[in-house]
Amino acid sequence: KQANHKAAELVRVAVGRVIVAKPVHKEKMPCVPAALVIGGGAAGMTAALAIADSGYNVHLVEREVRLGGNLLDLYYVAEGYNPQRLLRDLVNRVRSHQRITTHTRTELVNHIGHVGDFKSELQTSRPDGSMERLTISHGVTIVATGARETREHPLLKLSGVITQRELEEMIIHQPENITALKDVVVIQCARPIGFPEYCSRVCCTNTMKNVIRLKLFNPNCRVTVLYKNIVTYGFREEYYTEARRLGVIFMRYTDERPPKVFRVVGDPLYVDVYDVSLDRWMTLKADLVTLSMAVAPSEGTTELARKLRVPLSSEGFFEEAQLKLRPMDFMREGIFLAGMAHYPKFIEESISHALAAAARALTLLSQESLWLGGVVAQVDPDKCVGCLTCTRTCPFQIPQVVQFEGRVGVGGLGGAAWIDPAQCQGCGTCTGECPANAIQLINYTDEQMMLRSIQGLGAWH
Ligand code: SF4
Ligand code: SF4
Repeated sequence: KQANHKAAELVRVAVGRVIVAKPVHKEKMPCVPAALVIGGGAAGMTAALAIADSGYNVHLVEREVRLGGNLLDLYYVAEGYNPQRLLRDLVNRVRSHQRITTHTRTELVNHIGHVGDFKSELQTSRPDGSMERLTISHGVTIVATGARETREHPLLKLSGVITQRELEEMIIHQPENITALKDVVVIQCARPIGFPEYCSRVCCTNTMKNVIRLKLFNPNCRVTVLYKNIVTYGFREEYYTEARRLGVIFMRYTDERPPKVFRVVGDPLYVDVYDVSLDRWMTLKADLVTLSMAVAPSEGTTELARKLRVPLSSEGFFEEAQLKLRPMDFMREGIFLAGMAHYPKFIEESISHALAAAARALTLLSQESLWLGGVVAQVDPDKCVGCLTCTRTCPFQIPQVVQFEGRVGVGGLGGAAWIDPAQCQGCGTCTGECPANAIQLINYTDEQMMLRSIQGLGAWH
């Protein structure tokens, strides 16, 4: 009986909404057939090539002098192939592609507009120190700004303490120093003081590839890896097994008793570690200590997120619209995410992510015009008191207080809030927060939601 009553009430509510509903109109707007890709690493170049190969112009923006990003410092991967070949191939294809305009030493200064019609201002610093500004129009934006290995750790001030990236460089460029090593200690899960705690995903596999190389170059070197938890994703577990087979020693430590690195004058480094299996402290001698430092978002990520008006995760990486269903989308339409700007990824994961982002971007670019608007918020300027609550609460920072003709606000304020229908996502947050009740969400108006009685259908129970 209660279920029937509920069903009848739901029907009554639906009918009530329909009775006072007004037509929902969408506007047709042209889509600029060009893309902006921010970041010239593996993901950025892959996305740019995928879009350009489909026949659309791409502006590829890179802050550094050279394209390549993290690939520039990768000489080998656990799987064995040479990432420098991939880098050369990508750079050559990007440089020679007629549809890709590459802007190196360039940063995004301003990004306005909406899906299908963005305008971005780019600033290029020339070698002579002068600056050049350029404004471009594009229909979509792909963020592929990557990530970086952190270096802010007090132990890195000690000579003989280096990061995994530096160890990789040493293995490639100074093999004679590697063969001279007798004791190496690797400390996993190192992070700058005050840095948020999260798994950087790629460090354990990175450690395995480096210690395997080290052992192959110098089998007599005693290599000890101090870890909290080894996470070698998927089939990469085999590199962990291989490292153990080659004689690498693994010792677990805990946050309560972290390893301590110190140097006695004139002596090599020593590492005190509490062995949880033996339940006692041990001291290890080390010619070289390598820290697996946390992977952090690229510098300037917070500033870029502010310019694009897209959110960041608690770790500071760009946050996708939905982890499982829309991992390459932002909530803001027309802006997509690729590679390590999302979270630390392996090369092949970054490339897959970039191809997916490019495919999503192409679904928009392939349309000459887009239908925008529909269920969006609208401000009644005669009710707006200019309190700015909507500008602060909108997760996409869309409402603005403007002084268009006729928008004077309550009491002749000289301005009232305005919501661009082409940008509004229709989430309804601002409608509930406006203290003056000046905002209505089309098709979810107060009149539709607050109906108490419906002609011919009685009152609510
Ligand atoms: S919250 Fe309401 S009253 Fe305040 S500025 Fe926005 S529309 Fe105007
Ligand atoms: S409905 Fe949502 S997206 Fe649109 S202006 Fe309001 S808070 Fe922003």
